[in-house]
Amino acid sequence: MSRSYTIGIIKGDGIGPEIVDEAIKVLDAVSVAEGFDLDYKEMLLGGAAIDATGVPLPEETIAGVKECDAVLFGAIGGPKWDKLERHLRPETGLLGLRKAMGTFANLRPATVYDELANASTLKPDVVRGVDLMVVRELTGGIYFGEPRELLKDRAYNTMVYTKGEIERIARVAFDIAMKRSKKVCSVDKANVLEVSQLWRDTVTLIAKDYPEVALSHMYVDNAAMQLVRDPKQFDVILTGNIFGDILSDIASMLSGSIGLLPSASTGEGVGLFEPIHGSAPDIAGQGIANPLATISSAGMMLRYALGLDNAANRIDNAIKRALREGYRTGDIGAYDAKEIVSCSQMGDIIANYASRK
Ligand code: NAD
Repeated sequence: MSRSYTIGIIKGDGIGPEIVDEAIKVLDAVSVAEGFDLDYKEMLLGGAAIDATGVPLPEETIAGVKECDAVLFGAIGGPKWDKLERHLRPETGLLGLRKAMGTFANLRPATVYDELANASTLKPDVVRGVDLMVVRELTGGIYFGEPRELLKDRAYNTMVYTKGEIERIARVAFDIAMKRSKKVCSVDKANVLEVSQLWRDTVTLIAKDYPEVALSHMYVDNAAMQLVRDPKQFDVILTGNIFGDILSDIASMLSGSIGLLPSASTGEGVGLFEPIHGSAPDIAGQGIANPLATISSAGMMLRYALGLDNAANRIDNAIKRALREGYRTGDIGAYDAKEIVSCSQMGDIIANYASRK
């Protein structure tokens, strides 16, 4: 009997439905080629949910994601809903969903495809060959620490991590490194912050369970500089919430186009897989969005949520092949394009390549 998985599908707003449809096309092709079944369960979030139910995160979506093996998400938001009160806005729905799913690890790969090395603002020689993954702790640290307060002429926040929180995110990073080049660089500010000292000690302890992985430590200010100076030195970067927020944005710019970059939020339960970009209302409905970030997110879902490495490799290789052969959507059309293709044409090309051995 073939293996069967339930995939939650949240298309969202703007270009969300267009790009998610292409990812489904590719997932279907790969599932046939590899011999497993995918059942899709569509759910509402963001503006689409507001229009249909009056709230950005319906109860059915919170309950529905828990019945899935993983969730693929497009993007939410748009000018239509910008004037609503904060608790009713699409973005509030997304934050609420992430919280309800308990996803404490955010994985953001930054891969520079050879053919697009010119698209980066850095010199092609510096970025060509970059293939790194930022593993950011997502539910702790200074963004969530108590006490916090804004007074009239003083304000404060608290950076706090427990040993348990550090251990579980460290394990995520080491497990990923085992599937990659077996190198983890843990980033902190241990020369100044007690929290970072605990972070460093705990990561060093967890590393003992992964003798094949080479662990290094770096201060965050140096890491920011090194990411721009010589990004190829990194494989997995493990870091806390605020440092990861900043470093993952720096890393994302190495590749040059927001339409290429996937992400995953995982934790104890179901994982959420999504492109890093938003709903791009300026190009929605025109069929010109780049679906590669979402297709690549679907690949991460197969690898990290379902453990289907061969299927994920098919997607990664198909994307590389399409770019190598010069197929480009408009956003990356200026870089060695042989043919500018639409969103759905790009989906067709990737599905076709991914279904071949
Ligand atoms: P955005 O990422 O949607 O768009 C920024 C620019 O990049 C736009 O010019 C857009 O056309 C382009 N772009 C983005 N994705 C693209 C793709 N796949 N192919 C080609 N071009 C692409 O950011 P924004 O304009 O600041 O926000 C638009 C809306 O998206 C807002 O309502 C915002 O709140 C929301 N948003 C949602 C998410 C999410 O759902 N995770 C993330 C960020 C922003």
